[in-house]
This record gives sequence, structure tokens and C-alpha cells, in this order.
Amino acid sequence: MDNWNRLSALPFKELREIQNQKLRHFISRQLYPFSPYYRRLFDRHNIKPGYIKTVEDLRIIPFTKKEDFFSSPENPQAFRDFILQPDEKLIKKYWPKPKLISLALTKIIRGKDYLKKSLERQYKPIFLTATTGTTQSPVSFLYSDYDLRNLSRSGYRLLEVFGGKGDIRAVNIFPYAPHLAFWQTFYAAVCHNDFMLSTGGGKVMGTQGNIEAICKVKPNFLIGVPGYLYHLVRAAKEQGKDFSFLEKIVLGASAVPAGFKEKLAEILSGMGVRKLSVMGTYGFTEAKCAWGECPTEIGISSGYHTYPDMEIFEVIDPESGAARKEGEDGELVYTALDARGSAVVRYRTGDLVKGGISYQPCPYCQRTVPRINSQIYRASNIKDLKLSKLKGTLVNLSDFGELLEAEKGVEEWQIEVRKKDNDPYEIDELVIYLSLNPAVEPQALKASLREKMLSATEVSPNEIIVLDHKEMLEQVEMEIAHKVKRFVDKRPKI
Ligand SMILES: [Zn+2]
Repeated sequence: MDNWNRLSALPFKELREIQNQKLRHFISRQLYPFSPYYRRLFDRHNIKPGYIKTVEDLRIIPFTKKEDFFSSPENPQAFRDFILQPDEKLIKKYWPKPKLISLALTKIIRGKDYLKKSLERQYKPIFLTATTGTTQSPVSFLYSDYDLRNLSRSGYRLLEVFGGKGDIRAVNIFPYAPHLAFWQTFYAAVCHNDFMLSTGGGKVMGTQGNIEAICKVKPNFLIGVPGYLYHLVRAAKEQGKDFSFLEKIVLGASAVPAGFKEKLAEILSGMGVRKLSVMGTYGFTEAKCAWGECPTEIGISSGYHTYPDMEIFEVIDPESGAARKEGEDGELVYTALDARGSAVVRYRTGDLVKGGISYQPCPYCQRTVPRINSQIYRASNIKDLKLSKLKGTLVNLSDFGELLEAEKGVEEWQIEVRKKDNDPYEIDELVIYLSLNPAVEPQALKASLREKMLSATEVSPNEIIVLDHKEMLEQVEMEIAHKVKRFVDKRPKI
């Protein structure tokens, strides 16, 4: 049903040519005519849609930022301006003559209603997913029937990239919510024609319910958020469950910490699993799809395989906005090539990628599509939680997170930032909560962690508090939150 196999074998030059063609078409026939936001933006900057002929020409379009979706008193529903909204007048004005003639013929041959319905299928919003927005209110991105087909297509491609060979039995433990991860996964199995049980995660069925469902279904694919999936696997192991049917684990909806895959593989090897691939995915609401890694040895990442006929990725210098070359670090910028409903162009994701994008064929699956390096950090998280005053050092808390994930004796963890004595003008304090593997000696582990943290970040935590496992699970809201609470900012807002 999809041209993925042919597409992902084309030389990069041909893929670029497909992108150039699709970009010209998308900007001049869809985005400029029908998007109120982008028509205004282009007019304000005196950009004619015809100026955009190649991927390089994108640079004349100003960036779109998260803030542009936020409502303000003047524009209480800003997100609506990003939805493609054609009407008869706009179609007549912007679509080329041959296209209008073919529409007129359709109307004569198949009737007015048919034409109206087919345009509705393409443009009428019928579905949405929203950002999880921990700091701002959620932003909705709308899908038409056309977009849902694209969501199915990216789902199909994901399962192909994961190496699914028609014998897939999957359990999806993403939380049931209007979030991309759940629905991308759901549509993947539907489009790939595979069996999938979507449990809705811990909040819907509880961890025990999930474990029992997995033991019944005996899936070869298990798909979910890293933190919750880890918790579930460990709980199943404590009950002596056999998970030997598992072959592939797919992680999504939050970054996969360094060392995580190894830790998970080690636990599963004690539950009868012989050969395991653990693959990460990357996606965001604004793109209305996700990209995945292909199977490799544990500890190696292939990077995320993108869909060059559906989007363009650029990497830019986050300070100056200048383009970065292949393989260079920078911020990911996304441009849709085939969206209806809500559509964005030159959208700054706020995600910083180490090692940027590679345009070389994948050494593991040989696909020729551009691949995004898997070391991605959300710049917004870093900004929200940076410890500017902590002993004069700017600290990236995700560095602490990585250290804790990689530490074998640590089972669950949470990092808390607070003010000394809860006084807003006092210095920041850093507290680490842990639950430990019973075989580990807490004092020795604390001391070794302190040392590792100090050498990695130049900051040592004020306190390391060991909780028992149950308390710790409550603290991180394992069963009830959509995202496990790893970072907590208790500093009072001034
Ligand atoms: Zn690959």
C-alpha cells in the first residue's frame, strides 16, 4: 500500500528532488492559499510562494515558534490560523487552470455532492492530538481524513523500520489520551494489518492488569513510554513471569536515557528473552507522525529514519538561526510537505540534536532516507529547569538523569530542585530521591553517585534520599501520570 521500500532505496539526490517538487507544490497550492497564518506571514515579509523552489529556498521563510500557537487576548484561538481552510474563492484564485478544469469536469461527471465530499475528505478536521505542555496550556493539532491516512502511512513505515515481518503481535501500553504516541501506534498496527492490544497503560488497567494482558497475548512487540515500561517489566520479573515471547521493544513519548536499553535488556534476559532489539522513536504533535530506529545490537543507535516525501528537516544554530551542515549539532527545524488540517513550516522544535542529521545510507538497514541522530535534548526542558544560581554553575538536569539511568543499582529516581528553606531569594538546592536494588549497599552507592555527579556536572546534590520502592513509585506518580515525574521544580514562583 505504500511506496516506502522503493522510496527508502533511492539515492539521496533523487530524494532531494522529490522534496523540491513536493515543497513547491505544497507552498503554492496548499499553504499559501489556505493557511491564514502563513499567507499573512508571507505577505508581511513580501515572500511570493513562487520564490520557494528548492529546500535551500526555505531559508527566506521566517521560523515558526511554539509561542506562535499560543492564544492571546487579541487572538484567543491562535492555533486555528494554522489550519488549512480552503473555500471556493481561494481555490479559484490560487489553483492553476488545469487543476480547476479537472475539478469542473469532476463536478459534471460525478456530481456536485461528490466534489464537495472529496474536498471535505481532504480538508475537514475530524481528529486531533494535543501537546502535553507541562508549562503551557496544551495546543491542539487537527487532522483531516487525508492526515489520518498519512498517520497510517507513517505507522506502516515505522513497523517496517522496526523489522516487522507480518508476524507481529503487539501490546501498546502508551497511556490512552489524545496524544500522538498512542494514536501513531494504534494506526501503525491497523495499517500494517497486525494484531495489537492497546491497554491504555497503567492509568486504565493498572500495572497488574497490563502484566496479565501481556502474559495472555504473548506479544513479540511491546510498545510504551520508557519509564512505565521499565516499571512494568520489573514488576513482572518480581512475580517470576516468563516474557520469553518478546523480541522487540519500542520506546516513545519521551527521550530514551543513556544506558536505559542495556538495563532493560538485562532484566528481560532474566525473564527468558533470548534475542532482543530495543528501538527508540522520535515524534512531536506538530509533525503529526513519529520516526524510528531500526534494529541494532543493544548499545548502538541507527538514528531515526525520516520520511523525505512527507517532511523536511533542517538543523540550525539555536542562537543565530544559521544552517548547520550534515552531522553538526543544532536545533531541529521541521517543515511539513504533505499536511492538511494543521500545518507548520520551518517550525523550531526546541529539540537540540547532537550529531545532527546524516544523509548517508543506514549502515544497519541500508535505507537511504535522512536519519536524525538519536541524542536529542528538549531545549525547553533545559531552560525550565536550569540551575542558574547553584554554586554559580549552569547545570543541565538531564545529565543527572542520564547518570541515574545508567547506574545499575538504581531502580527509580527523581530529581527535585527547591529553594533553601523555601525562601525564593535563597540559593537553589538539589535533592535526589532513589529506590535501590536490594542487593546494593546504600551508603557506598550514594558516595559513588556523588562523585560521578560532581565530575560530570561540577555540582553535587545537597541530599540523596533513599526511599523504599513503593514510596518511590508514588513519588514519581508511576501509575497515574502520563509522564513519569522525574524532574520536579519546587522553587516558588516570584
Ligand atoms: Zn536503518
